[in-house]
Amino acid sequence: MLNSDRIRRNLHSVQARIASAEARSGRPNGSVRLVAVTKTVTPETVRALWEAGVRDFAENRVQMLLQKVAALHDLPIRWHMIGSLQTNKVGKLFLATGLTAIHSLDSARLAEALNAAAAKQGGLIEALVEVNVSGEASKHGLPPEALGDLLRAVGGLDRLRVTGLMTMAPFSASAEDGRPVFAKLRALKESLRDGLPSNVRLEHLSMGMSNDFEVAIEEGADIVRIGTALFRET
Ligand SMILES: *Cc1c(COP(=O)(O)O)cnc(C)c1O
Repeated sequence: MLNSDRIRRNLHSVQARIASAEARSGRPNGSVRLVAVTKTVTPETVRALWEAGVRDFAENRVQMLLQKVAALHDLPIRWHMIGSLQTNKVGKLFLATGLTAIHSLDSARLAEALNAAAAKQGGLIEALVEVNVSGEASKHGLPPEALGDLLRAVGGLDRLRVTGLMTMAPFSASAEDGRPVFAKLRALKESLRDGLPSNVRLEHLSMGMSNDFEVAIEEGADIVRIGTALFRET
């Protein structure tokens, strides 16, 4: 396990970088939410990060999410599911307590499954639509041109709230390579303001990871998903 001083230092450095990206882009301090991606670390490390002040955590696989939820059930963590999700895993996903949002909605079928599971529990589920902006075959998500149709299709699903868009930039050594991808997601969000069903309100842009979160914030991200930068050992 990483020692808690190291984690605290990593967190402060990430928070300072978020704050200066906010300032550079004229955004209020504290307007960007840090979601810590914990797929590579133990529950003890998650706990140390909680003690350092982080409240939002994410996993990209249902099984791992459920394991972390079980190990940390005493903490009121806001959990996010950020990995691609098969329809037949949705029932299991709802066993997770403290589930805040799913960032990987990418089909009407999945939307219906989430809605049905939420109805069964008597609750609501928040989702962001994952868009494959770069068009890489290896990336999950919906092609940009299919987004309008999906947003209209979820209109009748009264247990589902669609609150934003999510994307991943192509893997690259240079953060700047992500900029056009992030800018395009923001433009998509703005182009889809009108004529949406009442359960769709595109407020959030979930974009930016350890290697490109500052650029993502400059391009409008208000949720960044960060793993590696929080857990470095040197
Ligand atoms: C792993 C992961 C992240 C975090 O990536 P880092 O480079 O470790 O910051 C963000 N988003 C998704 C969807 C991921 O799977």
